[in-house]
Amino acid sequence: MHWQAEILSPGVVWASGAVIIRPETPETKDNAHWREAHARAQARLDTIATKTQTDTDRAIVEAQIAMLNDPEWLTRVENLVATMPPRQAIIESAEEFAITLEQLADPYLKQRAQDIREVADLWCQAFSDWTEPMIRPGMAVVTASVSVHDILQWADIPIAAIICEQGSPLMHAFLIAQNLGIPVLKLSSAVANLQSLNADTPIKIDADRGYIEFGTELGLEPPSTPPAPRPDVVLDTLHVGHVTVEVMANISSVPEATRSQAFGADGVGLVRTEFLLESAGHLLSQDEQVDVYRQILHEVPGPVTFRTFDIGSDKSLSFLPSLAQEPNPALGQRGARVYLQYPDLLRTQLMALALAASNNRHLSVMFPMISNLEEWQYCRNMALQVLRELNLPNSWFHWGLMMEVPSVAFLIPELSQAQAQFGSIGTNDLYQYFVAQDREKTPQVISNSEAISTEAYAFAKFLKDIASQAHHQKIPLSVCGQLASEPKWALFLIALKIYRLSMSMSSIPKIKEYLSHRIQDDTLVNIERQVSTALSSYQQFVQWMNEA
Ligand code: PEP
Ligand code: MG
Repeated sequence: MHWQAEILSPGVVWASGAVIIRPETPETKDNAHWREAHARAQARLDTIATKTQTDTDRAIVEAQIAMLNDPEWLTRVENLVATMPPRQAIIESAEEFAITLEQLADPYLKQRAQDIREVADLWCQAFSDWTEPMIRPGMAVVTASVSVHDILQWADIPIAAIICEQGSPLMHAFLIAQNLGIPVLKLSSAVANLQSLNADTPIKIDADRGYIEFGTELGLEPPSTPPAPRPDVVLDTLHVGHVTVEVMANISSVPEATRSQAFGADGVGLVRTEFLLESAGHLLSQDEQVDVYRQILHEVPGPVTFRTFDIGSDKSLSFLPSLAQEPNPALGQRGARVYLQYPDLLRTQLMALALAASNNRHLSVMFPMISNLEEWQYCRNMALQVLRELNLPNSWFHWGLMMEVPSVAFLIPELSQAQAQFGSIGTNDLYQYFVAQDREKTPQVISNSEAISTEAYAFAKFLKDIASQAHHQKIPLSVCGQLASEPKWALFLIALKIYRLSMSMSSIPKIKEYLSHRIQDDTLVNIERQVSTALSSYQQFVQWMNEA
């Protein structure tokens, strides 16, 4: 029996069996069950009430039971559930009531604000009473949806592969799966289609070619441990005349930093630090952050660029309630904008990054989602303030920004004047905002197999303008979006004189191999000339891309 499926993270693996979990998305499941969670919370409070020793304690628990059944609260939750996940609806409505209570003069009622928060917590905890089947090492997980949190947990088991119903290769969960070498395939109705699989069905997941095979007729022996995916070729740093082309890794954890070396990464062009928080499950203290930044630096001998926390939209953290309920989070509170609201988040991180640097380990630090000069100045000023407080020299650091909001493409001279020392183009978001297409829902620019669209051509010209401006202002540029992991686009970027490309590490060997051949076959100057001509019309661009 076999199924064709879409590749979300490459790799080929034999899994010893399959486990079907979470047949619906968490939101759907929670939506259907928030009343059941309520009943479970009620039962828990009833049990606590029977065990109380004193009248006062019993009165407190009974007040909590009354609160849990408050008709006004239940109606409010019911209304909110129509527009947001139920746990969030519970927390937000509880907060509304708590704030109202806190504003009252009566100290008794003020005190009830804390109670309602506790009851809301208890109700939310009752959601997780579903028991999911045991996931054993070497199994393939079949599920409707996958979060970053899942990937980080399952990588520790470790599982062999994932088959899921939803997602796109640019979702962060799958970018991390790519780095950790976990093959992922997307199959619609996977949960229903693969019902017959069980913990003992050997299953082959070929996420290089996009198919799943299983069945005892294959005569497959379940492997004892899942084979670790390996890079095929590891190449040295590319040097072409006076130019060095650095092919780097995007990482989000210490194990990924370690693995990046095996893939021949010339350094790390992007540390997605927000996922260090997600894997820890809480906001890391300053000391914890110093420790993890030092570990990353220890694992990577080459240059490392840290990006400060990029929280919001597709990177909301499971342990932080969403920052604000907005109709369009990708256009709302995210990245640098969050720092204006929560300055201590940035301050603590800058302190930790500063303390992780040293005289012989200079650091590059960039700020995410900068969209105007004021945000840049705010972040940089805070960095300089931190250095002054710690009495550390600014010469140990390079301060730069992610270029992923189109407005910054038109502010390069001003940013240069305001001391921006480098820019890293985040094509995942830049393309999303440039063409108004959700990065997680639609194919991006780019794929060897797909025709070059006119939007992709427009984007290529946009990139060229950014590169020209940056060169003019002498701001070094890199690219850390997934565009760099497509060979032809990587060559295109080299032709724009962008010599630092950072990507999911599984793409590094293929990019190094492709670039080293292409750059040997042709001179850099020649490639630059070809690209410049190709950009003069859509037809010529398509032709160059097809021949490149
Ligand atoms: C990008 O937007 O291209 C980028 C590298 O950042 P992230 O994917 O983490 O948003
Ligand atoms: Mg981004």
